[in-house]
Amino acid sequence: MKLFFGGDRMVERQAKLYEGKAKILYATADPNIVISYFKDDATAFNAQKRGQIADKGVVNCKVATHLLQLLAAQGVKTHWLETPSDREMVVRAVNIIPLEVVVRNLAAGSLCKQTGLPLGTVLTPPLVEFYYKNDDLGDPLLTRDRIRAMNLADEAQIDELTRLAGKINTLLQTFFQRCQITLVDFKLEFGLDSAGQILLADEISPDTCRLWDQATSDQAERVLDKDRFRQDLGNVAEAYQEVLNRILAQVNLK
Ligand code: 5GP
Repeated sequence: MKLFFGGDRMVERQAKLYEGKAKILYATADPNIVISYFKDDATAFNAQKRGQIADKGVVNCKVATHLLQLLAAQGVKTHWLETPSDREMVVRAVNIIPLEVVVRNLAAGSLCKQTGLPLGTVLTPPLVEFYYKNDDLGDPLLTRDRIRAMNLADEAQIDELTRLAGKINTLLQTFFQRCQITLVDFKLEFGLDSAGQILLADEISPDTCRLWDQATSDQAERVLDKDRFRQDLGNVAEAYQEVLNRILAQVNLK
């Protein structure tokens, strides 16, 4: 399939480079550019739970496009270049730093499980945490010293990732507030381009964030993210679509 990109340049999918749980990466003729294809597949609990969410790939591709564009407009360097079709994003090729950078504004998920903090506890300042992106080891929580010992990033890179995560959190929190959605927590991935520059990579979507609808305080009803799938809350596709609708309403206001 041929995709038109940047008006006059054309990119075409070539060999499959990598298939992850939610996306497939394809090479293009340009080694600096890859195509990220968004699937409907959903996994949770380190892929022990598997399923499909109708049109998730289409919705997440759109959500991620808007959020990456919003961040880029505020000076965050991202891998995003173009979204030429419903499920495909043209992005800069990067070497992914094998860290999951998690920002938490309210306690939820593994933080509650591991610390006993009650669900919804406000975290001031927000937590920035690093997890090792390694399914075989179950994505363990890392410390700064462990990151250094494992040679995953140097001091300056850890500082830069922490600074970027904080900036992205501030920008996303402000935007989601306008959507009447509380940004509870989210996961980011970063990569290094051929010049060694850190770029925000991967996606930001209801798969990678916890998002609570401010219209209700009901603990199940308010969930607009992958926790609906993880916890079998039903109406998963509808919740993802609601997030996209609220984002589009804000984008169209401009
Ligand atoms: P927790 O550590 O509480 O499980 O996750 C914190 C936040 O990061 C949640 O918004 C969760 O969706 C996201 N997150 C953490 N690890 C992963 C992961 O491996 N994949 C995805 N899609 N999101 C993750």
